[in-house]
Amino acid sequence: MTLPVYRDPNTIKEPATSSVFHHDLLTPPFATTSSAGHYLTLQNGRKIYDSTGGAAVACLGHGNERVKKAMIEQIDSAAYVHSLVYAVPATEELAKELILGTEGKMSHAYLVCSGSEATEAALKLARQYFLELPTPQPARVHYISRHQSYHGITLGALGVSGHASRRGPFEPMFAQNSSRVSPCYAYRDMKDGETTEQYVVRLAKELDDEFVRVGPEKVCAFIAEPIVGATLGCVPAVEGYFKAMQEICHKYGALLILDEVMSGMGRSGTLHAWQQEGVVPDIQMIGKGLGGGYAPIAGLLINPRVVDVLRNGSGTFIHGHTYQAHPVSCAAALEVQRIVREQSLVSNVARMGKYLSNLLKSKLGDHPYVGDIRGKGLFWGLEFVENKTTKEPFDPKLGVSMRVFQKGMDTGMSFYPGNGTADGVKGDHVLIAPMYDVTEEDCDFIVGKVLGVIE
Ligand code: PLP
Repeated sequence: MTLPVYRDPNTIKEPATSSVFHHDLLTPPFATTSSAGHYLTLQNGRKIYDSTGGAAVACLGHGNERVKKAMIEQIDSAAYVHSLVYAVPATEELAKELILGTEGKMSHAYLVCSGSEATEAALKLARQYFLELPTPQPARVHYISRHQSYHGITLGALGVSGHASRRGPFEPMFAQNSSRVSPCYAYRDMKDGETTEQYVVRLAKELDDEFVRVGPEKVCAFIAEPIVGATLGCVPAVEGYFKAMQEICHKYGALLILDEVMSGMGRSGTLHAWQQEGVVPDIQMIGKGLGGGYAPIAGLLINPRVVDVLRNGSGTFIHGHTYQAHPVSCAAALEVQRIVREQSLVSNVARMGKYLSNLLKSKLGDHPYVGDIRGKGLFWGLEFVENKTTKEPFDPKLGVSMRVFQKGMDTGMSFYPGNGTADGVKGDHVLIAPMYDVTEEDCDFIVGKVLGVIE
């Protein structure tokens, strides 16, 4: 792999003259003028194939006419109402559409504007559930999550996340009511000679031990991403893992909260990633692909057993945002979800996912610097290592994943880079999460670009 400090003057970021308080104040983002289908067009005229739909968001691609029409119609009929007092039909229809997709396993949807807000709502809902049980359990205030997880950027959500570099300076500000266990990360953590079953037993014991250490009567919920996205780079759990984790939750009466903000809404090859795991969560976060990037929307899908407790209890969820269930966001998400269903796009995700998986493995499996290729559906991660045998990662100072990203941009393709080293993760990765309507030709094109970038 060529590892120069790669800078092409055609795609180098604009100088720091922006008035926007950007995430990176020294190198603001690429100036972008338009987007259509699978492509973005930069101000300098370069077309970029968006192989990740942003951060696994734009599942339908850019500029969908049906979604645009639905949003305009919603603006014409009722652009905004306060959701505590009023509800537009699109919100009810969206909730019904979402519940339908769970095959009746979940009974209600709670809609907010971002994945982080969804996590905040989930944490509070779990707490309220225990307070409103016929025999309340007020001691339950503790959340067990996993190292190298990401559940959002706000203080509550980051407080239960294991993303060390994002926690960084805010560490002293987090509530001290959470702790973390190992993620299910077979490539790095499964021991030599260990079977999948033994690995699951080991991880289940670790969770069980953590319940015991904290005091099971204090634990509100175990929270995890079915496929770890941003931090580890598309790491699905091994077979049987979530079943074993749910059994521990049941054993101690805690809730299972699954964060499907990135891996959900069809991305994994089923509408919900838990549908492949043989479990049903008590509360589930959704986001990103829900609205496909057309408007800010995320939410919770809630198990009837949780809903019933609040319905028979106070009848009120003590939460709410000014823009929650925003009519235009609901109209956009409703149309996105209808298109996904009507055009059988989740089946295409599963089919093209297999094709992409085979292609990645056949073309890159023997590459000396590609340590692991993992994922599900159209959600794939490539982990780069300096030594394939020892799995020794590259020196973080080399910024390998950023170089892959930069070189991708220079050759007309955007990947989602990640370097977990700062989070106690060894290794660089990039994520590939194409649109749900990709064809075999699109997959060939993406993998061809990956090859070009890393050879
Ligand atoms: N949870 C997961 C698994 C995520 O990947 C993200 C964002 O990347 C979030 C929560 C937070 O979502 P948002 O950025 O919309 O607040």
